Amino acid sequence: MRCPFCGNVDTQVKDSRPAEDHAAIRRRRFCPGCGGRFTTYERVQLRDLVVIKTSGKREEFDRGKLERSIRISMQKRPIEPERIDQMISGIVRRLESMGDTDVPSKKIGEIVMESLARIDTVAYVRFASVYKNFQAADDFESFVHELRPPASEQ
Ligand SMILES: [Zn+2]
Repeated sequence: MRCPFCGNVDTQVKDSRPAEDHAAIRRRRFCPGCGGRFTTYERVQLRDLVVIKTSGKREEFDRGKLERSIRISMQKRPIEPERIDQMISGIVRRLESMGDTDVPSKKIGEIVMESLARIDTVAYVRFASVYKNFQAADDFESFVHELRPPASEQ
């Protein structure tokens, strides 16, 4: 952590203790360069992801929508629900760790297809076929609508 007084990056932690009812860690730091003392706080950062559509429109990321589109493409497939949950959590973690809160909708589709391809070919094909037609529309809601399995599979 860079010293706010002299810019020295080699500062030392003198003391760490829980703060804000254990929601944060408070650290007292010391700068050997200038003798300055300062405090930092460490907190959990839950990223607020924003989906960027092809049109440039921004929309708050909605895990529920993602989940619905994946569950629909997996309907009647012999996949355990826990496995699907794990896959969805994995996808969200990947999105969160991409290093940017802005995620193109295209990228989300690609990650979903990658994940589906590893788990179930039929679900992958369903998702991918809709995804291709979908790129122009670029709207998760209509995407989910189109993903309904054909009547013959009901
Ligand atoms: Zn300093």
